Parts: sequence; structure tokens; C-alpha cells
Amino acid sequence: MPRPLHAIIHTAALRHNLQRARQLAPAARVWAVVKANAYGHGIERVVPAFSSDADGFALLDIAEAERVRACGWQGPVLLLEGLFGPDDLAACERLGLSFTVHCKEQLQWLEAYAAQGGTARFDVYLKMNSGMNRLGFVPDAYPPAWKRLKALRCVASITHMTHFSDADGPRGIAHQMAAFNKAVQWLPGARSLANSGATINFPIAHGDWLRPGILLYGSSPMGRKPSAQDLGLRATMSLRSALIGVQQLQAGDTVGYGSSFKAEREMRIGVVACGYADGYMRLSPSGTPVLVGGVRTRTVGRVSMDMIMVDLTPCPGAGVGSPVELWGEQLPIDEVAAASGTVGYELMCGLMPRVPVRVE
Ligand SMILES: *Cc1c(COP(=O)(O)O)cnc(C)c1O
Repeated sequence: MPRPLHAIIHTAALRHNLQRARQLAPAARVWAVVKANAYGHGIERVVPAFSSDADGFALLDIAEAERVRACGWQGPVLLLEGLFGPDDLAACERLGLSFTVHCKEQLQWLEAYAAQGGTARFDVYLKMNSGMNRLGFVPDAYPPAWKRLKALRCVASITHMTHFSDADGPRGIAHQMAAFNKAVQWLPGARSLANSGATINFPIAHGDWLRPGILLYGSSPMGRKPSAQDLGLRATMSLRSALIGVQQLQAGDTVGYGSSFKAEREMRIGVVACGYADGYMRLSPSGTPVLVGGVRTRTVGRVSMDMIMVDLTPCPGAGVGSPVELWGEQLPIDEVAAASGTVGYELMCGLMPRVPVRVE
């Protein structure tokens, strides 16, 4: 009998969420973002689900691009951070990859490739730092960079790209849109601006190519307001397990390492086969929501490496073998994330390789 902990990837929900992105921006094409191993879901599990409906796959590095190609995908693939070194151009040529150019070093590598007589032609995404101050050319440096790319025979097309810091928050995107529009106003070319937050909140930023990630995986970039359900998104990953033990506590008894939880009255607790070595955050405090036998309850005590304890007061019928959902179809990942002081992204990306995964 294997340990009961497992994750389920919901293929129909992945497809549904991609359709939601399309409904939100019917005129735009969609880069399905599958970086970080498809936000923890597994590239090989997600690419087949999306491949009939995505226009391309956006990801981080050559290794991930190889995996997408190995799934049989022959369409566009975009390296969101571009080349990590000049040698990556050979791999881009071999695999037919598009890539971002966000700094002068990457521009120089491309110029050197052209000077050496490189024959491939690449679709390039020129990235502007419009205010996030992470990657990209500042607005003043952007048109000159565009002209240098434009002069290269190995550049087949240049798409204008930027990334928003606050598409999911109160500050919004107006300041970045203004900087972006001002710098590109005289330059021809398609545009790609919108992450999930902008796809949902800012039709003005949809441009030609969306880059949604988190919404495809059924989590709201805004957390719980609006919730994923409010946005018409469905959970794509369920983390499920079962109780492997039960304890009867008296008032004053404590639970787990550091005795951080103390029973105020008699209560029954269950022990779940899932811990931080599986990707359940150790920082999730007592009170984090969890479902036991479909009934909502809470964790008690510190998360240990392989186990979590849960309050069985609301589920008197539960015992060893009762099913548990840590997050997923019946318990939104964003609620667990909020209780844990983080975002759905971090929980799904943190799923550990030792957890067996089933695709449904
Ligand atoms: C990760 C990433 C995205 C997707 O962001 P979500 O918030 O998950 O939608 C889009 N664009 C770039 C450049 C990214 O790095």
C-alpha cells in the first residue's frame, strides 16, 4: 500500500481555464506560460492538455523548451528571459525558439551571431523596463535597441514586450502603459504586455499576445477578491491524502514540535500523511483550512516533515483512512495560500517530486 498522499492534475480544468483567457481577450493570441515546470503541474502533463488551443508556450530556459518539443509541439516557443549566454543561440536555432532580448549583452550576442554568418532567423521579443525595474531596456534606451535589432538579418520580427508589477493590485498599470506607449509610438510591431492580472483587469493592455500563467492553473492573481471561482476559473491541481492516525486530547494537551498548539478542551485530532517535504509549507500556521471527509476543518500545531495534524471536532465520523484534501477542487489553493501568508503560485510550484501525480 503506497502512502496515501498524491496530487491530481485536472486536464479538463486546464483546458477550461485556457478558454477563459480566450474569452477575456478574444482578439489576442495566447502564450500559455509553462515556466517552473508548468507551475509545478509538470510540463509533460500540461502541454498535451493545452496544445490544441494555445498559440505558443512561454517558459524559462532551453531545458524546458526541449521538453515542450519532446511533447511533439511544433508551434512557437518563447524564452521569457531570453538567452543566458551566446551559446544558447545554437539551441534556439536547433529547436526553433523565439526569445526575449532584455539587455545590451543579449543584443551583442545576437550581433555577434549575425557577424559570424548565422543563418537562422528569429522572432525576437524586445523587452522594455516600463517601471517594474526587473528586466528590460529603459524607455530612452528602447528605440535605439530596436534599431540595432532591426538592422540584423537574423531577426525576422520584433515584438514589443513589457511586464507589469501591479496588474493585480491597487496601483494598476497606468504609469507603465504611459511609459511603454510613449517609447513605442513610432515603432511598428506586435505587442505583448498582459500577464494574468492584466488579462483579467485591463483590456486596454491585451495587445496582440497575452502571457497568462497563474490563471491557467486556476488560481486568482488577486488571491481571494475576486476569487478564482468569481473569475470562472477551475482548480487544476488537487493535493489529497488520508488520515493515518488519530489522537484523543485532554484540555491542556499540546500538539507537535514546539508544542505550539494547546487544546483548550477535549478534542480529537487526526494525523495527515503530508508534510513540508511534500511541499506543504512549514510556515502554514495552526488554523490553515483543510478538508477531512469533505468537511472543512483546520490544521493544529506545526507542520512536520511528513505529517500535519488536523482538528477533527467538526468531523466526528473521521478516522484512519478518511480522505483529506490539502488544496484543490473542494478547497481553493488561494485560501490555503492566504492563511499561509503566500500566494497560490508558491504552493503549486512547491509540490515536491516525491509526491505521486495522477492526471485525470
Ligand atoms: C511568469 C510570467 C508571466 C505570467 O505571469 P502570471 O502572473 O502567472 O500570469 C508573464 N510574463 C512574464 C514575463 C513572466 O515572467
